[in-house]
Amino acid sequence: MRLSLAKIIDCPGASASFETTLDLRDMEFGAIRPVQSPVSAKGIVRNTAGVLTMTGHVDTTLDCICDRCAKPFTEDISYPIDAVLVTEVQQEDFLDENCFLLQGNDADLDEIVTTTFVLNMDSKMLCRPDCKGLCPTCGKDLNDGACDCRPEPDPRLAALQKFFEK
Ligand SMILES: [Zn+2]
Ligand SMILES: [Zn+2]
Repeated sequence: MRLSLAKIIDCPGASASFETTLDLRDMEFGAIRPVQSPVSAKGIVRNTAGVLTMTGHVDTTLDCICDRCAKPFTEDISYPIDAVLVTEVQQEDFLDENCFLLQGNDADLDEIVTTTFVLNMDSKMLCRPDCKGLCPTCGKDLNDGACDCRPEPDPRLAALQKFFEK
């Protein structure tokens, strides 16, 4: 969706609110597509002394798979939108990740919301911060208690032991 800012672009002090919903079901993170619920975004664009700033938040429920124990879980997320909208790029390096170029008088809401979303996604998905994961030997979920496997000997110690046996 495009958000027309024609009414506020030349009016310091003016503002325009927005609300949109996005379908990001095809977006892949790792090997899964966690964004099966609609993504909603809500906020306001303000003209502060000629500078256009966009603030708001992006909300959805993620369908995740734990990176450690492979258990599916859902997580409600709310990421902040904090962007600057510019009509032209002054310097090459001025366009950082929170800075978006207007197309005419319009802001490309889909691009801004998608970028905000991706930048805020955790690269690791854990069912809980202290998930113990699965035993690499027997595959038991260690959150349910310890297994009977002996810990693997440290390969460095094994090499050392072999060396002194000679
Ligand atoms: Zn887990
Ligand atoms: Zn085990």
